[in-house]
Amino acid sequence: MTQVLDSHAHIGRIGQYESTAQALLTAMDAAGIGEAVVSSLEGNEYVDDVRVGDGTSALTINRELAQLCRAQPRFRALYWVRPCSEAPGAAMRQLLAEYRDVFVGLKLHPRGVGAAIGHPAYEPYLALAASLCLPVCVHTQQDGWADTALLAKWARAWPQVNFIAVHMDLGSDHAQAMEHCARLPNLFGDTTLMSCADMEKAVGVCGAEKILFGSDAAIFGASSYERYLPHLQTKNLTDGQRELVLGGNARRLLRRKV
Ligand SMILES: [Zn+2]
Repeated sequence: MTQVLDSHAHIGRIGQYESTAQALLTAMDAAGIGEAVVSSLEGNEYVDDVRVGDGTSALTINRELAQLCRAQPRFRALYWVRPCSEAPGAAMRQLLAEYRDVFVGLKLHPRGVGAAIGHPAYEPYLALAASLCLPVCVHTQQDGWADTALLAKWARAWPQVNFIAVHMDLGSDHAQAMEHCARLPNLFGDTTLMSCADMEKAVGVCGAEKILFGSDAAIFGASSYERYLPHLQTKNLTDGQRELVLGGNARRLLRRKV
């Protein structure tokens, strides 16, 4: 039986969305999810291009998330990057080192931080990801900010960094994202908000070793995993494919070097 690892879940509050640690754990238990990689929604600086937040720094938000995750071993964390307002200085490096058991990657939400994929402000963060062997998880959507086509350019320019395309272009038929993930060895797809049929198609096109199960839980509350029950129970994948998608790939990719 696969120990399911959700590679994309959230803690925190932004706009109409809220996910507490307790709500996430309750939802995970209801669906039989063992572990989750979480990032803080409060890392967003914009919602629908309107400035949000109370001025708390990304460093503080990520530190609070790390403290929460250390107290709850079923969680691991992504560091939410704000490239235009905070550079990856000594304090960030120190935090990543202090919580090296907790932080397993960087999280980028291009529109949420006002910087499209390819913006030069991301460069020092990508260099840091390369030096620490941290994968970079990126919200993708065909909105001019976060197209997987843009992410594919980065994947070519940074072959030593693994990139995970969350949503594989949210709201699309995912065909373009599948094509890029199939072609580039360091570009992976995450199933957050994709249908089960599209997840199965992605496995067929890209290979099971390129697709990770993710959910956005628990922003839809205690029933956040209901929409994913078909994904978790699919009979259209082999046991080996299911094991990779539901946990094996995430465990392999999210392991840090230092
Ligand atoms: Zn998300």
